[in-house]
Amino acid sequence: MSQFTEQQVLEALSNVIDPDLNQDLVTLKMIKDIVIDDNKLVFSVELTTPACPMKEQIKKACQNAIYHFINQDIELVIHMTARVSQKKGSKELLPNVKNIIAISSGKGGVGKSTITSNIAIALSKLGAKVGIIDADIYGPSIPTMFDVENEKPTLVTVDGVSLMQPVESYGIKLLSIGFFAQTKQAIVWRGPMATKAINQMLKDTDWGSLDYLLIDLPPGTGDIHLTIVGALKLTGAIIVSTPQKIALVDARKGLDMFQLPQINVPIIGVIENMSYFTPAELPDNKYYIFGKDGAKYLAEDNNVPFLGEIPIVQSICEASDIGRPVALQEKGVLNEVFESIAMKVAQQISIANFKPSPVE
Ligand code: ADP
Repeated sequence: MSQFTEQQVLEALSNVIDPDLNQDLVTLKMIKDIVIDDNKLVFSVELTTPACPMKEQIKKACQNAIYHFINQDIELVIHMTARVSQKKGSKELLPNVKNIIAISSGKGGVGKSTITSNIAIALSKLGAKVGIIDADIYGPSIPTMFDVENEKPTLVTVDGVSLMQPVESYGIKLLSIGFFAQTKQAIVWRGPMATKAINQMLKDTDWGSLDYLLIDLPPGTGDIHLTIVGALKLTGAIIVSTPQKIALVDARKGLDMFQLPQINVPIIGVIENMSYFTPAELPDNKYYIFGKDGAKYLAEDNNVPFLGEIPIVQSICEASDIGRPVALQEKGVLNEVFESIAMKVAQQISIANFKPSPVE
């Protein structure tokens, strides 16, 4: 005969609030597989992302609630699991792709593709299934960053339909405009042609099931962006900028575009790249070459989350050039920087998915 009941366990855990979603874990239906055996209690907490930055905090709160409300001497095992959330009631273009996120920048060369690659790898290392569509017609660099420049997607037949099979590298599924057109050719593509290619990369592709599909958009806010963004059902958009004034002016235009009533895409947050430079021989010095905190202020002014800053580091550039993004490293400062940003991205996506859809 066990010394406590499942009901008591649920009552105790109903005191644990998810700090991001502001509801208790029982109401959120996050408590699964409760097993009670005499004095032993085992259960799982199913989070909305494996990249949850609150994982340890939530686990600790569950332990405290069980010890406090039931018994200090319980032999307790808590499994932290995850099932990535998606917008409730959303009719997605791809039913097995839970979240489509656009990565956007006002200006070219601010590190949008570098950040897309490294976030994708960091999310995947944390346990998520991730894909990238490289839609940057002005400079599709994802194939280089993933060392698959000479590969081409193959064709597979699924239920009698011929579909493209994405190229896979480091566990990330990839399609790029660069696989179909030479860079010089791609640049002259006009809106409808690029949109058609992007639609094919989305719809005529066997993506399988993905938690996050990142779209590396071309820089700027032209017609082409409106068409691409309008054609996709985006979960949200991330804006990348350097702290430089002219980059910020263009980044703000990007923010405004996503917030247009006819576009209405939630902003997941702003990432600042090339925030400062630290010379190897002076590791304690930070030089704010492009100005300080510009993107942070951009986020604050627009009331959207700031997701983090990335310094200028030679190895970030070198790693991308040789096709092994720095986030692949097992440890190190840069690995931590990208892991922390990836977690914040996943956290904000979970929060955005939980909010009721704006009335369309
Ligand atoms: P975008 O996609 O915005 O055009 P890229 O990601 O291609 O920009 O980056 C432009 C160049 O800057 C690349 O050579 C890249 O390796 C380099 N780069 C990007 N971010 C950093 C950084 N934080 N430190 C050093 N080099 C960087």
